[in-house]
Amino acid sequence: MSELLADGMLAGLDEIAGTGRDARRGGYSRHVWQAAELELRAWFVERAGRIGLDVETDRNGNIWAWWGTPGPDAVVTGSHLDSVPGGGAYDGPLGVVSALDAIARLQAAGFTPSRPCAILVFAEEEGSRFGIACLGSRLMTGALGADRARALVDADGVTLAEAAVRAGLDPAHLGTDREALERIGLFVELHVEQGRGLIDLGQPVAVASSILAHGRWRLTVTGQGNHAGATLMADRRDPMVAAARAVLAVQDAASARPGTRATVGRMNIVPGGTNVIASSVQAWLDARAETDEETRALLGEITALVDEAVAENGCSVAVVEESWAGSVHFDPELRDRFSAALGGVPALPTGAGHDAGVLAASVPSAMLFVRNPTGISHSPEEFATADDCVAGVEALEKLLRTLL
Ligand SMILES: [Zn+2]
Repeated sequence: MSELLADGMLAGLDEIAGTGRDARRGGYSRHVWQAAELELRAWFVERAGRIGLDVETDRNGNIWAWWGTPGPDAVVTGSHLDSVPGGGAYDGPLGVVSALDAIARLQAAGFTPSRPCAILVFAEEEGSRFGIACLGSRLMTGALGADRARALVDADGVTLAEAAVRAGLDPAHLGTDREALERIGLFVELHVEQGRGLIDLGQPVAVASSILAHGRWRLTVTGQGNHAGATLMADRRDPMVAAARAVLAVQDAASARPGTRATVGRMNIVPGGTNVIASSVQAWLDARAETDEETRALLGEITALVDEAVAENGCSVAVVEESWAGSVHFDPELRDRFSAALGGVPALPTGAGHDAGVLAASVPSAMLFVRNPTGISHSPEEFATADDCVAGVEALEKLLRTLL
């Protein structure tokens, strides 16, 4: 058995297997600066300290663990520790744990890096608490403005600025972090694959080629709140019915455009009573396509169909863009170099967003994917076998060895 395994899983993942379990949804709910995620941060600091790394938290709440002296042109690897609501055990933590394990193995082999090296753990990658994915990397690169970030509100009405204070950060210092960016010579993120690419290829590891363009929009459907018993069917302006038709319109629009994806995975019904016709419904749309233009065209069609569906039910709808990320094509030279260094592993596109995709606009970035035998992610069924996790660590170790 590989010395990388403990309890039949990748050493490190076993240590956090009990943190942030969600009894209601299944899987894990680990949201930025809430109890479970804070516990994971403390665990990471302790775990990094165990292999002699020096830990610091930057102005945006991202954690850095330096192997040797911090400096420019560093080789940086890492991922995130937060999860979607009811998420899997691998999305994020696999990259963090693999980075710790890869560096520990290099140390054990007596390897001395010739350039700076760090592990980077990004804050709020999933956007599960404040609604914007890749929050830590977007703030660092300036893709998200500090004023807008500070005003974001979670489900309990806590602003990001307030949450930052409670987490020990100064919200006045949130925002573009040139100093941090200038230290990164190259970033590589190892991540569990979130689709079926590696299953179909019969391979454990791949490098990333591209990320779909994607965005999030909030749809507020407004009707007339009223009594469920006293209001005749013909007299209703029911935003629940309008929203249901809107969801079908979203499905129709994306189904008609090959390669595009559109999802409504979250709704908020106001006021939300069994004997009450709702007065309004908020629904969140996630839409993705290969190019920015296709994604915008998809959104245009969805908006037109939703307008029509909602009007037929005597309701109105307002659509607000909450976030946008253009398509990403990872540095082809780096991608090919990494693939060759790993014996010609395949290059795969992905429909999932990542901090590496945000960083790619500012610094050379790459990703490694580890096979997910269920092909399912953002769900408790997300998985990676112990053998494939070991293959991932070995691949990352090999890359670090060539880069450092
Ligand atoms: Zn992730």
